Amino acid sequence: MRQQMPKQDPQVRRSNFDEVAHGFTAELARAEAERCLNCKKPLCVDGCPVEIEIPKFITLLVAGKPDEALAKIKEKNSLPAICGRVCPQENQCEARCILGRKGEPVAIGSLERYCADWGRTHAAETAPEPAANPKGKVAVVGSGPSGLTAAADLALLGYKVTLFESLHAPGGVLRYGIPEFRLPKAIVDYEVGNLTKLGVDIQTNVLIGKTITIEELFAQGYQAVFIGTGAGLPYFLGIPGENLNGVYSANEFLTRVNLMKAYRFPEYDTPIRIGKRVAVVGAGNVAMDSARTALRLGAETVSIVYRRSREEIPARLEEFENAEEEGVVFHLLTNPIRLSGDENGNVTTMVCQKMTLGEPDASGRKKPVPIPGAEEEFSVDTVVVAVGQGPNPILLQATAGLTLNKRGYIEADPETLMTSIPGVFAGGDIVTGAATVIAAMGAGKRAARAIDEYLSQK
Ligand code: FAD
Ligand code: SF4
Repeated sequence: MRQQMPKQDPQVRRSNFDEVAHGFTAELARAEAERCLNCKKPLCVDGCPVEIEIPKFITLLVAGKPDEALAKIKEKNSLPAICGRVCPQENQCEARCILGRKGEPVAIGSLERYCADWGRTHAAETAPEPAANPKGKVAVVGSGPSGLTAAADLALLGYKVTLFESLHAPGGVLRYGIPEFRLPKAIVDYEVGNLTKLGVDIQTNVLIGKTITIEELFAQGYQAVFIGTGAGLPYFLGIPGENLNGVYSANEFLTRVNLMKAYRFPEYDTPIRIGKRVAVVGAGNVAMDSARTALRLGAETVSIVYRRSREEIPARLEEFENAEEEGVVFHLLTNPIRLSGDENGNVTTMVCQKMTLGEPDASGRKKPVPIPGAEEEFSVDTVVVAVGQGPNPILLQATAGLTLNKRGYIEADPETLMTSIPGVFAGGDIVTGAATVIAAMGAGKRAARAIDEYLSQK
């Protein structure tokens, strides 16, 4: 039987920001690892975007060698404590595990997390020394998973790397987006600390495109640049009343709670106003994180308002189930059409159109179609809009010669990730649009290899 990680009780955890899942004990990890069949042709490895040698690390765990198991994982994945927690394993490695055909797949993500946490708490990891005579100087723009991975790999390849981040703390979405109860910031700090040990110089509060341009970076002696600036520009609904007080983009809401530490008010004097009734529009990971954050900040009712049905919910299954267990209410086939407020400009009401599902649309999902005359009204104190993000234009507009695709993302060679500007590479959400942590890391890895080849040939 698949072992489950112990979790905080939903009634308790809905009022605190501590991590929801406690992670495997040594006994649980061993019991779970022993389920692995150590397949000759392990399909799980094909399901992992960075091809971790899954059966090999699991075999090392069974042999009682968590340090060696972690080293095996780290051959392919430099952020296992993060990926073990937030990767959508149910669509990746675990979806391919042979045991899943007739029963439950091996809990690969939980085992990866166990190894990484073991390494962190046993101080088993040693970092290689920074290169004494660097091969060259490379700038990395953006400190999300793509930038962190590119910077680490380039440092390991012998380059002097400077990582520029516009916010005051590194980590990208790992820092400002994904909340503490899903990814403790101590883990992000630890992974970023490993980067510093590799000799990477992290410069925060530097907005590339304004503080310094890419052209100026080359003039300062950088020989190549990696852009990993993500997709952090929020989309809005475009409905009347969206400018009322109490209406946030999920991006602003989560940044104020996580990065600006509103969740630790009054220890930090940067609170956020939440009210009693919160509606979150959308049903992806960002919406689930916003809804569960609102509960923990003390809202009495938190609703997810989503225009499609339960089947189309794009969030990770685990996060959707966690949200339901904690008491988030789901208003499905419901689409907001206007917001209204009181005389002080504070939002008070959300009016929604009831929907039904029609024929599949371009995305392959059934299209939500309005039911004529069917409207519903909610009283709200806070509305959080979580309907997607696009590319932030600042760097893109400030960089002459950078070709963008039709959707406004950077066009990069699929193999090398080189952009239209020689020596400038790009990867992660700024190329693909909003995707996953592991996909962004994969891009950072590919770009580091390609930058090394490019500079070696020069
Ligand atoms: P980002 O993580 O967005 O980092 C980009 C960084 O670049 C930011 O720190 C930004 O401040 C900085 N930057 C931007 N412009 C500049 C500039 N001009 N100069 C300097 N710095 C700049 N994925 C999963 O796999 N699992 C999940 O559970 C999951 N949950 C998510 C929850 C939320 C709330 C969000 C928003 C996303 C979630 N994702 C999840 C998606 C995942 O986090 C992203 O796909 C991933 O972080 C993209 O990495 P990135 O390196 O491309 O960019
Ligand atoms: Fe183990 Fe499943 Fe991978 Fe086979 S497919 S090696 S059982 S994790």
